[in-house]
Amino acid sequence: MATVAIDMNTSAFDLWVYLSQNLSGTLDTHGVCGGISQHISDFTNCKSMTALNEINGNSYFDAWLSAPNQKTSQHRWTSEDDLEVIHNLLEDYDIKIIQKHEIEPNNAIYDMVEETLLVVPLQWPKHGNMIIPQGILVVADAHETLLADLDMVSDLATMLTTLIERAVLSFQRDRQAIEFAITSDISQRLNSSLQLQDIFAQISDNIKRMLDVESLSLGLINQNNGRIEFIPQLMGTIFLEIPRIELEPGTGIAGWVADHRQPAIINDVYNDPRFSKNSDKTSGFHTRSMICVPLLQEGKVIGVMQAINKRNGDFGNHDKALLEAISGPLSAAIVNANLHENVVSEKRRIEAMFQSMSEGLLTIGPDHSITQANDSLMTLLTLRNDQVIGNNVTEVMRLKDQDILLFMAEVSTYRPTDKLADYPQLLCDVQVGNVYKPVMISGAPVREDDGALNEIVLVISDLTDIREVERMRDNFFHTIIHELRTPLATILLYARMLLKGNLNDEEKTHRFLKNIETESDRLQAMVRQMLQHAKLESSEFKRSELPVNLNGVFDEIMPAMRDRAREKGVTVVDEIQEDLPEILGDRETIYMIIKNLIDNAVKYTLEGKIQVNAKAKRTKVHIEIADDGIGIPEQAMPQLFGRFFRAKTAVEKGIAGTGLGLNMVKEGVEKHGGKIQAKSVEGKGTTFFVEFPIPSD
Ligand code: ADP
Repeated sequence: MATVAIDMNTSAFDLWVYLSQNLSGTLDTHGVCGGISQHISDFTNCKSMTALNEINGNSYFDAWLSAPNQKTSQHRWTSEDDLEVIHNLLEDYDIKIIQKHEIEPNNAIYDMVEETLLVVPLQWPKHGNMIIPQGILVVADAHETLLADLDMVSDLATMLTTLIERAVLSFQRDRQAIEFAITSDISQRLNSSLQLQDIFAQISDNIKRMLDVESLSLGLINQNNGRIEFIPQLMGTIFLEIPRIELEPGTGIAGWVADHRQPAIINDVYNDPRFSKNSDKTSGFHTRSMICVPLLQEGKVIGVMQAINKRNGDFGNHDKALLEAISGPLSAAIVNANLHENVVSEKRRIEAMFQSMSEGLLTIGPDHSITQANDSLMTLLTLRNDQVIGNNVTEVMRLKDQDILLFMAEVSTYRPTDKLADYPQLLCDVQVGNVYKPVMISGAPVREDDGALNEIVLVISDLTDIREVERMRDNFFHTIIHELRTPLATILLYARMLLKGNLNDEEKTHRFLKNIETESDRLQAMVRQMLQHAKLESSEFKRSELPVNLNGVFDEIMPAMRDRAREKGVTVVDEIQEDLPEILGDRETIYMIIKNLIDNAVKYTLEGKIQVNAKAKRTKVHIEIADDGIGIPEQAMPQLFGRFFRAKTAVEKGIAGTGLGLNMVKEGVEKHGGKIQAKSVEGKGTTFFVEFPIPSD
């Protein structure tokens, strides 16, 4: 602290000179105001105080109190009583000398005075938008010399106001520079991400810092129901733990702002009827003051932004202007982020559909190179990704006797009509390795808004299975017709012979009738099998879950089979465990499974032996039916259980059948949670392995 020679004759002029020398280099408000009090006390040996009110409001005075040779102390006066004392002293804005008894008691000013108080108002004209605070300087018990020249004191006040004004302006200039830097930083960040959460997280701290507020909240209007939904991530951790805060349209300050499309500054929310206290109740957060601005995009309110609880003093127009300045770019960023999110989710949806389709799909650019293809296409063509993507379509889609480019030319000129089925289609064979696969290609052009062709989408359906089913169906009809025709012709023949007479020959008549009966039985068996197959296939088939005694099933089947085999000179040997555990299922189906397999063994074995085994092992019953029959060609094994399948070994040997039995067997086994496998060597024999699960209890 500088030591100053105290002179009781110090005049206002001396003070003027002293203060102007000491404070001319100080540029911040705190330094100037504190300095004035300090230097006056030191120079005059009197207590003094400088006080300045809030820049944008009127709710407090900052006061710097000094006593000779003591450190200056700073106080913020907010209570109404303290403020009233100052306002009373400032009443007529005149420099005056008043007596202690004229001052309201019980406050800092009263306490510093012994007898008289020199009151010097500090007041400034308005500078455009800049609001300069009001101030006051008081000197307690000043010497006569100082008090003698109040004109000089007035000059002193002018000099002091200039110093303070300079400091305030420089503070405001600095603040504006900071605000400008922060707003441009916010704008930059708004453009740096398209993720809403990211955007909010990035700007929230900056806005809070700039406005000096405790919290910032952002509510977006749900375009479906008009409710305002606040984003918890932005509001602080407590909001993450409570239900998301939502306001009905038109309720709360946010609802009012959204409805009226204008900002609101509320410095005491609990006294504002628009304020909805519910969110404070749920969160435990205490809202005191708030600025709420609407977020507008193309004239439409998309949400609101609220700055909550200003830390120092009240919200003013300046804060509102700042928040409004940010609201524009923020609205645009929200709209962009939403658009982006929609585009991304649409893209994901299309990609998922693209990938999940069982048909092969590919897109081709204007240069005929393949831009995208799904997994089904790779599987269909047995190619890897790198052999398809980026390659020319003519290298990937090699067609037999047709040109893919001609088809694409047709697709590229196609204009959609209201008939979907109208899309160009091509039935052809595509090369896969060394073979050709039958496929149907459908094509659609993708155009820009101006109609220019962007790409072509091709959907490739594999017709191999359909063709196979068609082939099997044709075979089946042939077989059926053949199978039905033979017994029918026999029946007809004997019936006619019986009709013609010769009925006296009883033995002959009996034989004819017996033949008719046998053939009718065969016909009936075939029809029954076909009906059984249809029933097993239908979705209405519901397997009953009853315990089935397998020994009982074998006992019923084996004797007749043994007889049939014996007639052919084939032996049947069995090793069936006597106490097979019961399995759960439908007896009729289990019977059909075992009967069909043994029946086939007998049917397709011309000489030798048939071995039927059944035993339980741990959780399963294993059944094995092996024969020394004609066998099945190796290349036919994959189709063995297919519907209508008949191996050429069986057909060539003229053994009758429908090709439905094994298909039914497999379906029946699987419906019981079991498994079936076959092993065969052409000309040597065949073995079927079946397993059924044993219920755990
Ligand atoms: P079907 O016997 O009426 O023709 P299946 O579906 O029972 O029909 O059998 C399909 C085909 O599988 C038969 O046509 C035959 O070619 C072959 N097959 C089935 N079981 C045997 C077997 N035990 N030995 C040789 N071939 C068999």
